[in-house]
This record gives sequence, C-alpha cells and structure tokens, in this order.
Amino acid sequence: MNTPQPIPITSVVIGAEEKAAVQRVLDSGMLAQGPVVAELERQFAELTGVPHAVAVSNGTVALVAALEALGLGPDDEVITTPFSFVATLNAILESGAKVRFADIRDDFTMDPDSVRSLVNERTRALLPVHLYGLPADMDALSEIARAHDLHLVEDAAQAHGATIADRVVGSFGVGCFSLYATKNLQCGEGGLITTSDDLLADRLRLLRNQGMRVRYQYEAAGHNWRLTDLQAAIAVPQVARLADNGAARAANAAALNEGLAGLPGLITPGVPAGRGHVWHQYTIRVTPEAPIDREDLAKKLEQARIGYGLYYPRLMHDYDCYRGHPQITVDPTPVAAQITTEVLSLPVHQNLTPSQLDRIVGTVREAFNG
Ligand SMILES: *Cc1c(COP(=O)(O)O)cnc(C)c1O
Repeated sequence: MNTPQPIPITSVVIGAEEKAAVQRVLDSGMLAQGPVVAELERQFAELTGVPHAVAVSNGTVALVAALEALGLGPDDEVITTPFSFVATLNAILESGAKVRFADIRDDFTMDPDSVRSLVNERTRALLPVHLYGLPADMDALSEIARAHDLHLVEDAAQAHGATIADRVVGSFGVGCFSLYATKNLQCGEGGLITTSDDLLADRLRLLRNQGMRVRYQYEAAGHNWRLTDLQAAIAVPQVARLADNGAARAANAAALNEGLAGLPGLITPGVPAGRGHVWHQYTIRVTPEAPIDREDLAKKLEQARIGYGLYYPRLMHDYDCYRGHPQITVDPTPVAAQITTEVLSLPVHQNLTPSQLDRIVGTVREAFNG
C-alpha cells in the first residue's frame, strides 16, 4: 500500500503579493516601524469597525499593553477562562493583576453565569477568549461589564474578523489579536490592539515607543513593543483575503460536521445563533460515551498521517509553575476540566482539498466503527 500524503493541521502559503511587499520594504532600506505598519493598522481598524488599531510585536504583548494602558495592577482582579493558550494567563500575571477563572460553556467560551458568581469589589476587568475563532457571548459579558463598571479586554488572538450579529470581535472592548505564524492572519510574530477609545489608543502608542511622542521627550515609562514594516508587509495583503479564507474554512467545517454526524459519543462543534465563527480550529469532543478514547483516535490519525492538535490538554493554570502563585486564585471549573480531556482539533484550513476532507472523515469514522 502506498503511504498517504500527510495532511497538515496548518498550512501557510506566502504568495507573490507578500513577497513583492517584503521586497519593497527591503529595497527602501527602512525595516523598522513605518508606513507599512500604519497601513496594516488602517486596514485592520476598518475590518474590525473601530477607529484605532495599534500594532505591537506579538499577541501576548497586545494583552499586556491593553492591561497596562487600562491601568490594571496588583490591587485588581481580572476574570478570564481557564481553557485557553497560556499566553492569556501570562499576560495577566505580567500586568501585576490577580487572576480568577470562570467556567466555560459547551461552546468552549467563558460562561457569563460563572463570571457573575465571581465578580466582587476587586474585579476590574473581564478577559474572555474567542477560542478557536468562535466569539464568546459578548452581549451577556458586555452587560455584566456595564453593570459593574468593568473593563472588557477581548483575547481575539484566534478570531480575526469573527462576528456577533454584524459586529466584529475587538469592537466590544479592547481587542487583542495575534499575528503569530499559525494564526488566520500572520506574519511570523506580531500583534494588534483595537479600540474605539481615542485616549487609550494614544496611551498605547506612547507605551509602545519608550513613552516618546517626540524623540527624547519621555512622557511615561514605556517599552519597545514595536512591530516592523518588514513583518507588516507580510500581513497587509492577507487582510483582503481574510473573508474568502474564512468562507473556505466554514465550508470545510460544514463538510466535517456532516461527515462526522451520528458517531456515538462524538460531539461536533456547533455555532450559537448569530455568531460568525472564523474556524481557526475545528475541534471535536471525544466523550466517555465514545467506543474509542481520544488517545487511540490520535494514534489512528497519526497512522493515517493526518495532523491533529490537543488544544488544550490541561487547564492553563494546571501546571506546577503556577501552583500556589500569589496572583492566582483557582475556583472549580468542572465543565472546562472535563472538556480538556475530550478535545481534539482536526485540519480545517483553507487549503484542504475535497479528497483530503474525505480522508479525514473516513479515518475518524473507521476509528469509531472499527
Ligand atoms: C496565539 C495566542 C496568544 C498569544 O499570541 P502570540 O502572538 O503568540 O504572543 C494569546 N492568546 C491566545 C488564545 C492565542 O491563541
């Protein structure tokens, strides 16, 4: 039997437009932050429907910068989800604030009821994550934030262009996006912060550039959080393609949902009414009712050379380095704890072919039936 071609979980294609744009920056001799970063900011603000986007060096820095610009520190608590990439947690710790974890719903995003039970007089911000490209329930979370006068910081690292009704994520609160190599919009390393608040945008630009508006006139103790024109040149041509890529990913997700329907104990990902998922990941749950456990399914996928991911195998605070951490309070999150043992992500990227989709479906079905 022939060895099948591998199907990777992510696929990055850098096209002629990106190459030409990078070449122009190289030829200009000005590689640091300049007009191409400004162009990326303009286009991304327009996509998100906000007046300001501020580019920074990566998505983790976007979160740290948002929290610092909002003035959060050691006296403040931030409520987030325990079911995310560890950058969400590390950014809050770096800001100096304290962190608490709300449970999630079975759509993988933060549960507003659980958030309500944690809000107290020290709470200053809510930090939901639009995990896998699915917006969290921002209507309910915005309502809680309004009622208790809390900041809303969105970890939208995986969700460029995702929507609720006709609003784009990153427009509900302060939006923090990543341009890391595997994200839906990417330039290797990079980040973007979106906001409708003029003063906050100004503060972010100041903090990004060593606290300087005018050279050597320091107005605040700042940082070097700048993105380079060389990186922005890779991202700019992709902004116009985001919608088409999202549609291709959605079509792939629909094909996988249809192909995997009806398998016992396998839950395919649903999309709550009104939300526009951008399918950064397509994530199934292999529940205790399934005839095969997740690790055995993973082995079958490996044998068939189909890429997969366990995002995330443990709650993000459930590691020795965070136990007893003075900034962390751990409340029980039973739904998230169960879901970490069940999730498995399959390829959904825009470069999949129909025959690759068939192979993915066939391999999973065989693993469940065989
Ligand atoms: C990728 C990611 C980040 C961090 O972005 P970087 O650009 O890698 O620093 C933060 N949160 C989530 C949910 C992510 O997936």
